[in-house]
Amino acid sequence: MADDLGEKCGLFGVYHHPEAAKLTYLGLYALQHRGQESSGIVSSDGNTLHAEIGMGLVADVFNERRLAKLPGHMAIGHNRYSTTGSSLLRNAQPMVIGYAGGSLAIAHNGNLVNAMEIRRELEQQGAIFRSTTDTEVIVHLIARSAEIKLADQVVDALRKVQGAYSLLLMTEKEMIGVRDSFGFRPLVVGRLADETFILSSETCALDLIEAEYVRDVEPGEMVVICDDGVEFFRPFPQTRHAFCIFEFIYFARPDSIIFEKNVYPIRKALGKQLAREAYVEADVVVPVPDSGVPAALGFAEEARIPFEMGLIRNHYVGRTFIEPQQSIRHFGTKVKLNPVKQFLRGKRVVVVDDSIVRGTTGQKIVTMLKNAGAKEVHVRISSPPTISPCFYGIDTPSKRELIAANQSVEETRDFLGADSLAYLSLHGLLQTVSPDGHRFCTACFTGEYPAGSPSEDLLQLELF
Ligand code: AMP
Repeated sequence: MADDLGEKCGLFGVYHHPEAAKLTYLGLYALQHRGQESSGIVSSDGNTLHAEIGMGLVADVFNERRLAKLPGHMAIGHNRYSTTGSSLLRNAQPMVIGYAGGSLAIAHNGNLVNAMEIRRELEQQGAIFRSTTDTEVIVHLIARSAEIKLADQVVDALRKVQGAYSLLLMTEKEMIGVRDSFGFRPLVVGRLADETFILSSETCALDLIEAEYVRDVEPGEMVVICDDGVEFFRPFPQTRHAFCIFEFIYFARPDSIIFEKNVYPIRKALGKQLAREAYVEADVVVPVPDSGVPAALGFAEEARIPFEMGLIRNHYVGRTFIEPQQSIRHFGTKVKLNPVKQFLRGKRVVVVDDSIVRGTTGQKIVTMLKNAGAKEVHVRISSPPTISPCFYGIDTPSKRELIAANQSVEETRDFLGADSLAYLSLHGLLQTVSPDGHRFCTACFTGEYPAGSPSEDLLQLELF
């Protein structure tokens, strides 16, 4: 069940376009980094919903034939990522249901912390669930609402849930986008020509279809798009904002604007701040591609050390590949990354990555750099130590597996085999991302959960 609690996802919706499904397909392409497990599009022709959903990457799931089965002027799409346990087609989204109000499609990015409690309660009352996602809990609550209008039913349902959600919902005739009051996950509104409205997790998907970024769906805000036009509501009590800081560190695409800020310059500034906090004399700065590149550029610029792409990434590696059985283990990292020896031999190397989770990538990279002849390897991480799992939609392992939750920086350095190791400070991170005040969720670095965490009995099952 734990696997199902993290919905690290990409959302994209198109309202009023003759090729709504095709635009959604393009949008999902741009949001592929937010989820690689499954991909789905649901379209509406005004009378009926049509769904095409499958396991795998957008390019694997969709072809001309499948897209042709998605007629209509409206569509919503979803890329889902979750860990192996829940890699099931029945958990793929958008989820489509029939209920008293008609047909409804729903796509969710985020993670509810009280989904299990609500689910147990509903099951005791006879409800039958067909997936193991927390999204289905929202669907049941909508279906049970005594309200008449969909928007009111959704508000009714969401008042009962706790945690993180950016949601897209669609019936035959209307589309709704909504974001929880903390604003954990991003959601933006775009516009194409005069009449087409777009909802997307990130602006990089708007860029691809040449739509204009209008504004964010604000935390606690709901946007309803139908024949009567576009309306924004604020049906939920306002609370402090808690945008996911990890979106800026790792998750979002660097060319996107999320939470009203461009990701790339922030990543670069984190690298600069890291260089100010943890300078080390060295000959070359090398990023761990792709996630470490902007921070490494910032580090190199600030430290005035030459930057080189000393590790080359193979971009065509899928999630699983077949290893020869009778050979040294750990082809994993090698198939993904290969060092450029001439930049490394005899050099003092600073290697920059965005985060350390279990520590396994870092260990393999340090070994790889040393084997390539590096004289010294200094690891610099453009975020603080990850000490607590995310309950709001980023896929992190249990606390037991988080190296920084169990080992000191010195022990971690030793585990990595590095000559030195330094993380960005929390203060430095917040100063860089949010000089105007603390509006971010930093639970993965502090263990402080703004919207609470799943109940003790779930945690005791060591699900996290
Ligand atoms: P690890 O080997 O477990 O320490 O993982 C660290 C690497 O995974 C870093 O290179 C990060 O860029 C990357 N990373 C961090 N968070 C995530 C995540 N939620 N999903 C996938 N990769 C991640």
